[in-house]
Amino acid sequence: MDLRDWQIKLKDKVLDSLKRGFLVALNSPTGSGKTLFSLIVGVELKGKVAYIVRTHNEYYPVYRESKRLGKSFSFLVSKALACPFSTADVNPEDIKCSSCDIFSSIPIKVDDYPFSFLSKLKKEGEDEGFCPYYSLLDSLSNSDVIVLTYPYFFIPRLREALGLDFSQYVVVVDEAHNLDRLNELEERKLNLTIIDRAISQVSNTTVIEILRRLKEEVKKKALPEEKYILVQDYPKLTDDELEIIKEEYEALREKMIKEKRIKQIYLNNIIKFYETEGKVFSYKGSLIKKPITPEKYISILNDPSLSVILMSGTLQSKEFLRNVLGITRQIEYIDTEKEMKKKLSGTIDCILALDVTSAYSLRTKEMWKKYASYILKIFYQAKGYVLAVFPSYSLMNEVMKLVNLPKLVEDEKTSLEDVYKLKEKSIIAAVARGKLSEGIELTKDGKSLISDVVLVGIPYPAVDDYLKLQAEEISKITGQDVKDLLINTTALIAVKQAIGRAIRSVNDKANVWLLDKRYDSIMWKTKINCLNPKKIKL
Ligand code: SF4
Repeated sequence: MDLRDWQIKLKDKVLDSLKRGFLVALNSPTGSGKTLFSLIVGVELKGKVAYIVRTHNEYYPVYRESKRLGKSFSFLVSKALACPFSTADVNPEDIKCSSCDIFSSIPIKVDDYPFSFLSKLKKEGEDEGFCPYYSLLDSLSNSDVIVLTYPYFFIPRLREALGLDFSQYVVVVDEAHNLDRLNELEERKLNLTIIDRAISQVSNTTVIEILRRLKEEVKKKALPEEKYILVQDYPKLTDDELEIIKEEYEALREKMIKEKRIKQIYLNNIIKFYETEGKVFSYKGSLIKKPITPEKYISILNDPSLSVILMSGTLQSKEFLRNVLGITRQIEYIDTEKEMKKKLSGTIDCILALDVTSAYSLRTKEMWKKYASYILKIFYQAKGYVLAVFPSYSLMNEVMKLVNLPKLVEDEKTSLEDVYKLKEKSIIAAVARGKLSEGIELTKDGKSLISDVVLVGIPYPAVDDYLKLQAEEISKITGQDVKDLLINTTALIAVKQAIGRAIRSVNDKANVWLLDKRYDSIMWKTKINCLNPKKIKL
């Protein structure tokens, strides 16, 4: 097999580090061939690779490369996706398998693209009377390469339920720049819509009364602001009330499996909100409960019996992995472009605007107008799609309402499919750290269709109650003051991710518009490889 020069040069170094018990952190750009590289290393070292991915989009490349290597492959998706009787949005707990009449698995061999295979398997399962989910689960232990999403590896109870011995695998964590957000895996939300939907699903009048009272209390505590505000005295349920809700939930689970039509049961969102540990915040009209730090989920990476490779095109620094994520093992940090002393990704031309900023003290209507003028100019010179990334929804909405051009403005309901449906050249307005700015891939014949990336301001996270508490907690664990590191690294990764949307292969070329005078600093210009940007004013 033809390998690239960096793959040949660094293979032994990575193998050697893993053998010595180091955690390998591999920072290498999109399109450089990380997937194949990590599989080759994993197969050579242990014969088996567990590939841990953030989204289902990442299943396909692992399947493709496993087949190239002639290795058997399997994968797991949530019960909601694999169960022939459920809709994709249900919580896996809503599905009461113990009452299902096809609760058994058969031996399977994944011989097609994962999602084509899954749809065939679901049909066969229903026709022939076996469970697709448990068949996939059982197939994991017989496959050389397996792919799982983050929850199955990082949430301890889900990992244990798989019954796999991960020390037998090389564990590859893809898109590992997301590890600082692992605590969001068990984030719970409570808002008026969820309570209304729960009310509409139940018939028990006592439960309805409890939910109506809860709704009135949530209304007072869930504030509209787009920042996390700590809520100490959030609405509570008594043990008896929770018990009655659980009984009603059980009855609904039983009814749905009997009818073989399983939909999301909103009572479970309420139960989970109260049963999950964490702090409660108000955020954009919802109450959000979540653990403050990702420590509980990340600690598995410190297990010395596991061989681990963390990979990303925008991996945080070694200092961040140690001091913020709390990785205590020895780390071999490899930046492939630095090792090879050359670029392994496409090229960018940077343009820096000196007369705009998203700094809080200068957020005015005049500033929004200037940003809108820039976007207009950029759009007319762009050869392809324009991706404009904003620090927050509120800033994005202020600016984009002044932009009268073909556009898609992200909101909480926007999906990647909405972007793929765009027919004409458009502006894609996305929020930093959101689904689009970290997930879209618009390519044709291997080339990116995004010609221009616009950074509207610097996407620093809001210094709100959540960030402050997180910095305090991490400092207690690692003994380091990490607030600035947290803020600056979060912004930097968001900027790199946005730029990365336009650079999907070594042949891609894009304009990067840095619309904030604060980018005119050595730190920013060095970190994002924009050393000599063209400087402009309106
Ligand atoms: S098919 Fe039956 S056993 Fe399988 S996930 Fe669905 S409900 Fe559970």
